[in-house]
Amino acid sequence: MTATAQAETHAFQAETARLLDMMIHSLYTNKEIFLRELISNASDALDKVRFEALTNQDLLGDDTELQIRLETDPEARTLTVSDNGIGMTREEVIQNIGTIAKSGTRELLEKLKDSGASDQPADLIGQFGVGFYSAFMVADQVTLITRHAEEDSATQWQSSGDGQYTLQELDSAADQPGRGTRVTLHLKEADAEEGQPDYSQPALLAQIVKSHSDFVAYPIVQEQTREEIERDDQGQPVEDGETKSITEDVTLNSMQPIWIRPQADVTEEEYAEFYHHISHDWQPPAKTISLKAEGRIEFSTLLFIPSQAPPNLHYANQDFGLHLYVKRVLIMENYDELLPRYLRFMKGIVDSSDLPLNISRQRLQEDRHIKQIRQWISRRVLDTLGTMQEEKPEVYATFWGQFGGVLKEGLADHTAKSALLPLLMFSSSADPDKLTSLVDYVGRMAEGQEEIYFITGDSRALVENAPQLEKFKAKQYEVLYLTDPVDEFMAQYLDKFDDKPIKSAVKGTVELGDEEERKQAEETLKKQSEQHAKLLESLQKSLDDHVKEVRLTSRLTDSPSCLVGSEFDLSPQLERMLRDSGAEMPTQKRILELNPNHPLLEKLQQLQDSDGLADHAFMLYSNAVLAEGGDLPDPARFNRLLAELMLK
Ligand code: ADP
Ligand code: MG
Repeated sequence: MTATAQAETHAFQAETARLLDMMIHSLYTNKEIFLRELISNASDALDKVRFEALTNQDLLGDDTELQIRLETDPEARTLTVSDNGIGMTREEVIQNIGTIAKSGTRELLEKLKDSGASDQPADLIGQFGVGFYSAFMVADQVTLITRHAEEDSATQWQSSGDGQYTLQELDSAADQPGRGTRVTLHLKEADAEEGQPDYSQPALLAQIVKSHSDFVAYPIVQEQTREEIERDDQGQPVEDGETKSITEDVTLNSMQPIWIRPQADVTEEEYAEFYHHISHDWQPPAKTISLKAEGRIEFSTLLFIPSQAPPNLHYANQDFGLHLYVKRVLIMENYDELLPRYLRFMKGIVDSSDLPLNISRQRLQEDRHIKQIRQWISRRVLDTLGTMQEEKPEVYATFWGQFGGVLKEGLADHTAKSALLPLLMFSSSADPDKLTSLVDYVGRMAEGQEEIYFITGDSRALVENAPQLEKFKAKQYEVLYLTDPVDEFMAQYLDKFDDKPIKSAVKGTVELGDEEERKQAEETLKKQSEQHAKLLESLQKSLDDHVKEVRLTSRLTDSPSCLVGSEFDLSPQLERMLRDSGAEMPTQKRILELNPNHPLLEKLQQLQDSDGLADHAFMLYSNAVLAEGGDLPDPARFNRLLAELMLK
């Protein structure tokens, strides 16, 4: 190659250098996956150029046969993977190859930092993967030459993985490298015992391609030479005849889309490879769903539930969607119209035979097929999750831990709500270590219980000890603990399940027990309230700035007081969240409830006409605020009163 400019030396970022060092010394046993990484990058680059060419017809020029080539030179110990894809500009090489921008990789680096330099956590590579850099597991030097489809000059990148790389501009007029990218690995010494097979062996490469990259949509071509002995007209070998060497291009992969093949013929590993190819996630999927819709609309779909949430799952403008194929041709990647937002963690493809090949994004959006496909897929995914929940509760629990928060968002969609409700998992008072579904909750409901109860709060510890739940505990009524921030929003959509109202345990009034018990409790409470009417009024007056009502309750068994909301009030946590997010809203006053059977009530009764009542009222209120993890209205006054009380 003739270089027009001097090679420039660049240092890798510290993290990249560290990563490369890890790659070079990796003990990871599954080194052959470097090849599928390079092929996968080539395939992505071919997808891009094909896509661009749809609107820019000159882009491909004469070079229209999109393919990936593998070349080996056992003498020089090199392996080259090349493609005539989109290629990279110099800037792109620096961006994509010289730095580590991917969040997954950053996470890997965090883990590395934690693990210290001495131990080599070999399986970390298997967990996160580092695409292109995996070449350094098998090579001691990597050279990449690339020319972007719309540029004249090519860029050469070279590194031995030792902390730096060189960049050099190549003069294409002199050299004419074609469009695309060539990655040449200078292979490490082969040593079968050390787990370093000889990757310059064409047969080995053919085998690796077959097992990891068979479905790739472009031909992966290898030049193969075979010996042919001379034969006569009958096809019999000629005695002392000549042996000819014949060299020809052989395509190593079947290119058959994996979703077209009968499901029984596809192994789990093959599905996992395909999942990896489209998702760039190194973990195998938790579940593969392969379906064919036949009837009014016809399409095939291959869907994957990942086993781990990506770090960016909760970013607002995170790309999501499925790859859309029309008659096996990729039309659009990550097409978000194919999935509702609450299933945005799903990966996969849809292949439709009802859409025209040259459909524009605009027209696609208006196409009723897409909407039908989305509905169909949503239903199938929720069905699958339901089956998983029933048949493999541990697998479902893991899924829920990763993606439950996203699924909850779907409750706002009224078409999905009824299918989603049984899928929800809650922590509850029934078992501190296990989550429960609404179905199981209903199965455990106490005698006479007609409603489902929940409490929202910042943590399990807080809600577990909430005084508001004392009566629930005494009567052994299970309460769902909603302690995830998104639960506050979800709670707004929890109204009914299995014909049973779902209610907050800390809003409105509660009467527990069967009809008889409830009637009795109500009457007793009414009597007690009349008895203490004057006291309640005085308390109300002195707490007027803080609460909208002071009343007696049958909800408490041990504590003297607690705070509750009216039926349609926002919870204090939701109120705080909304205010933190900048919403302007008046402070919502709450209701102070007192335990009529607590000795403190007698004490208050005695203090009724004295000056001490206001202080006691204030302490009572402050205590109730503290019990639910709220902010004290007047900490200085609280402290002073507490000190006085302790001295008494
Ligand atoms: P990923 O493929 O997950 O993005 P990689 O480490 O495998 O991560 O590749 C990093 C980036 O380098 C790719 O996203 C792509 O932009 C660029 N790249 C790698 N190989 C090629 C190639 N053969 N052609 C064009 N770009 C490439
Ligand atoms: Mg890659």
